[in-house]
Amino acid sequence: MGNMLGLAAVVAGGIALALLLPIPFSRPSPGKVPVSPQSFSWPVMGTVAELNIRGAGEKAAEEARALAGDAFRLVETNLSVFVADSLVARLNRGENVRVAADGPFATVARFALETAEASGGAFDPTVNPLMRVWGFRGGIPAVPSPAALSNALATVGWRRLILSPTSNGDLLTSSGGAEVDFGAIAKGYAVDCAYDALVANGFTNFLINLGGNIRVCGSPAPDRADWNIAVRDPSGRKPPSPLPRPLRSGEAVATSGSYERFVEIDGRRYSHIIDPRTGLPVDNGLGSVSVIAPTAMEADACSTALFVLGLKAGAAFLAARPGCTAAFIEQ
Ligand code: ADP
Ligand code: MG
Repeated sequence: MGNMLGLAAVVAGGIALALLLPIPFSRPSPGKVPVSPQSFSWPVMGTVAELNIRGAGEKAAEEARALAGDAFRLVETNLSVFVADSLVARLNRGENVRVAADGPFATVARFALETAEASGGAFDPTVNPLMRVWGFRGGIPAVPSPAALSNALATVGWRRLILSPTSNGDLLTSSGGAEVDFGAIAKGYAVDCAYDALVANGFTNFLINLGGNIRVCGSPAPDRADWNIAVRDPSGRKPPSPLPRPLRSGEAVATSGSYERFVEIDGRRYSHIIDPRTGLPVDNGLGSVSVIAPTAMEADACSTALFVLGLKAGAAFLAARPGCTAAFIEQ
C-alpha cells in the first residue's frame, strides 16, 4: 500500500530555486573515512544535474561524474522532444521507429503507457500538442482559442502510441498521428541509468539528482544509514519540510510542481503540467507532490500523475503501488 501525507496549506506565490534539497553528506567521523565527500553539478537536459559521492578518491569521483554525464546524454539523445534526431522527434515527424525491446525508448514508453492506464489518462505521454498551444514549446504564451485547444486535444491520446513486437525481437513503435513527450518521465529514467552505471562500476555511496529527481545509494555517512531529503516550500515563504520518511539505499524521490516551470499570461501563472482530459494547465490548489519510489522513473511518472489527479483521486492510484509514499503540499 502506498502512503500519503498532506502537508500544511500556505499562501501561493514565490519561486523556489530547486524542488528538492538533498541534505549534504555529514563530515566523516575522525579516523574512519580519509577521503572527503565530493560534489559535482552541471547543466544537462534543460536543468541541473548533481552528484554527491563519498569514499571515492578524486580520480574515481571524476569517473563517476563522467559516467553519470554519459548516461544523461544518452537518454537525452534518444528521448528528448527538443533534440532534432531523437527517436521521439522522428516518431513525431511521422516515422515508425524500430527500437530495441530493452532499450531506452521501449523501457520508458512501456512505463509511460502503464502509468497512463493506471491513472485513467491523467498521465499521458502524448501531451506535446497541448504544451505547444499554451506556449511551452516556443513563441509567446497565450490562452489558446477554444478551436486551437480542441484541435490539440483531438491529437492527444496515449492509446495511439503502440509498441508492436517484430520477428527479431525489436519493437516497432507507431504513434498513430499523436506526438510523444516523455518530459514527465525521462529525467527519472536517466537518473536510474546513471545509478545503474555507477553501481556497475563499483561506486557504493552516492546521491544523484537531475532537476529534482533523486536516487541514493549506500549511506550518507559511515554512522548514518538513511538519507534525509527536504522539499522546498512551493511558495518559498516557509522553510523546506522533510519528506515523510528518509530514503533507504536504492530508493528514489521526485517532485512535480508548478512553481519552477510555468508560463505567465496576463500576470497569471499557468502550470507546465497539463490535464490531458481538459487540455488545461493543472490548477487544483496543489503546490507540489513528492513521491518516494523504488526507482527514479517510477517516482518521476507518479509525481506528475498525482499532481494531475490531486489528493482524492490520487489516493486510489497510490494504493496500487507498493513501495511508494507521496507527500502533497498545497499552494
Ligand atoms: P519537471 O519536468 O519539472 O521535472 P514533471 O516530471 O512533472 O516536471 O514533467 C512535466 C513535463 O511533462 C512537462 O514539461 C511536459 O513535457 C510533460 N507533461 C505535462 N503534462 C503531462 C501529463 N499530464 N502527463 C504526462 N506528461 C506531462
Ligand atoms: Mg515527472
